[in-house]
Amino acid sequence: MRSFFITIDQGTTSTRAILYDDKIRKLDITQIELTQYYPKDGWVEHDLEEIWLSVTSCVSDLIKNNSLKSDEIVSIGITNQRETVAIWDNKTLKPLSRAIVWQDRRTSNYCQKMREDGIEEVIKEKTGLLLDPYFSASKMKWLKNNLDLKKNSNYLLGTIDTFLVSKLTEGKSFLTDITNASRTSIFNIQDCRYDEDLLKIFDLEDIQLPEVKENADFFGETELFGGKIKICGVAGDQQAALIGQTCFDLGSVKSTYGTGCFLMLNTGQDLVKSKNKLLTTIGYKLNNEITYALEGSIFVAGSSMQFLRDRFKFFEKAEDSEELALDADKNSNVFLVPAFTGLGAPHWVPDAKGAIFGLTLNSGIEELTLATLESVAFQTRELLEAMKADGGEISSIKVDGGMSNNSFFSQLLADTLKTEIYRPEDIETTALGATYLAAIGSGFAKKEDLKDFWKVDEKFLPKNDLDSKFKAWQKYLKKLIEQ
Ligand code: ADP
Repeated sequence: MRSFFITIDQGTTSTRAILYDDKIRKLDITQIELTQYYPKDGWVEHDLEEIWLSVTSCVSDLIKNNSLKSDEIVSIGITNQRETVAIWDNKTLKPLSRAIVWQDRRTSNYCQKMREDGIEEVIKEKTGLLLDPYFSASKMKWLKNNLDLKKNSNYLLGTIDTFLVSKLTEGKSFLTDITNASRTSIFNIQDCRYDEDLLKIFDLEDIQLPEVKENADFFGETELFGGKIKICGVAGDQQAALIGQTCFDLGSVKSTYGTGCFLMLNTGQDLVKSKNKLLTTIGYKLNNEITYALEGSIFVAGSSMQFLRDRFKFFEKAEDSEELALDADKNSNVFLVPAFTGLGAPHWVPDAKGAIFGLTLNSGIEELTLATLESVAFQTRELLEAMKADGGEISSIKVDGGMSNNSFFSQLLADTLKTEIYRPEDIETTALGATYLAAIGSGFAKKEDLKDFWKVDEKFLPKNDLDSKFKAWQKYLKKLIEQ
């Protein structure tokens, strides 16, 4: 009998369902874009009915297009946008409002007030996170306080994984996985349980809390696609990418270059507390063993290429940036700081703006493109240096995301970071990771087998010394921050 896996990748901009064979090779994909709602300044919402419809349509189409029978599907994996909060009715499973998306800043003042009250240290200590509207707890509190829930005490609050599992199992499962739980701000990552102090701080003591499962656990069965199919793997998107890159060894790093850049370092069984404004989080939990990670994010990575393409009209397609950068004068000393939406880790300067330095009459679109690609590599070096300063030891770096397709950029990374860079054949590592988890959870594979499934596409070795350029760029960055 044929064996397949289906993974649901519920992301911020779209929902996808991906079909894999028994060698975990990608066979087919269905995708539906999601409407982004911006009802007020700083508010970002998703329609939960639309999310649910996109999930069922993507999975049904995948099954139909490939003439699959439900008993040929070994199991389903789920990966999702993290931190986003959903609210739905316990009985009817109908959403009670739109989801508040991770980017939403409506609870900024509330978080600021808590910071002034000196609560940030407690939160950092217990959760490894910062006190910021980004994380789920303040959004949960907002929904609880602002919806008229008096008539409905049967509501459920949860992250997107919990919502999807609840819908897929028709209300039988009310579960979350440990990586999604670790981003809520109510989960103590040291003791691995919901924390009563945190629940009190966020006024969430009376909500029903989903049971927290390991990543390759049994999450229930769905009967919505023609027969029973098990759900055996769940992880938040960045953690799924860590698994998809098989970063199971201490010191292994995955760095994802999509719209922004998310870098995650496996710190093993050590919960490393950051003194450099990085986040400490749970990488994964398998076979009763927790692996921790340090995480840093850069707001602008691939979107800088969109910026050059759409605003400056330098090229038609993002991939054309590679040819332009190859033609640039490598000694041009043009520098760019891509702080278009402020600066993320390790600086966290929300009001910073982007800037270009060092222009001469010789500077052209080639040099500016080179400077932009370099700026993303330089920001990555800052993240890695922050991780090293926190005691993290880096053994290998694996890249993924759309921008990693740019071989010139991947080489720049190897040069800037002075480390070998590995790019896998399948750069959609988020979905791959959830599939690996579904394979482990259904007893189809062991964690140790996964390295055989992961295939390298290209390895980039350090060739050029970019130390002095990096230092010059840092000087400009400092100037910009101090302005
Ligand atoms: P997301 O998941 O955040 O939507 P993707 O992983 O799909 O992002 O990557 C898309 C981003 O990568 C876009 O911002 C695009 O500009 C950039 N990108 C894609 N291909 C290239 C390339 N060859 N060179 C540089 N940037 C690229």
